[in-house]
Amino acid sequence: MPMRENEYTVPEEIPTNVECPACGSLLFLMNYEMEIPHEGHIMIQTYTCHSCLYKKSNVFSSEPGRHIKINLRIDSSSLLNTMVYRSPAAFVYIPEFGAEISPGEKSSGYVTTVEGILRRLDEYIDMMPYEDEEEFNRVKALLHEAEEGNIPFTLVIDDETGRSSVSSDRATVEYIQ
Ligand SMILES: [Zn+2]
Repeated sequence: MPMRENEYTVPEEIPTNVECPACGSLLFLMNYEMEIPHEGHIMIQTYTCHSCLYKKSNVFSSEPGRHIKINLRIDSSSLLNTMVYRSPAAFVYIPEFGAEISPGEKSSGYVTTVEGILRRLDEYIDMMPYEDEEEFNRVKALLHEAEEGNIPFTLVIDDETGRSSVSSDRATVEYIQ
């Protein structure tokens, strides 16, 4: 009997650079996607630690293929540890700073923290410097202050494929037509 597609996706474990809150080892992430009668499509993200067996799961109702925009206001340094999955198709930006990562041809998805996103933004603008040097220095300085937890900002992830996610109750998800 042929398998029905989309009923269940065999999860793949992805190594992350997120530290286990219990023992400090690096966590692994699994994404399960499934269809549930009357609920529709849901995604379960499970972070596990191979060293101490720490486990944390988040459940999202997701509609893959729908364009989403996730917003997370970072106004406390503890939120810098929020886990983020950025899909290969996502734009990541901080409107207050004018800093952005665009999906490139070789772009791959990754799991990191908000702090990790700040570091990637920092590296990204080194590779694609602004024409205006003053502006470049201004954005670099803001990113460094943000990494230290000294200034609030908003993290925005704009994803046409709807697959990115931010593991925080404070994140809002907006569906774009
Ligand atoms: Zn652990």
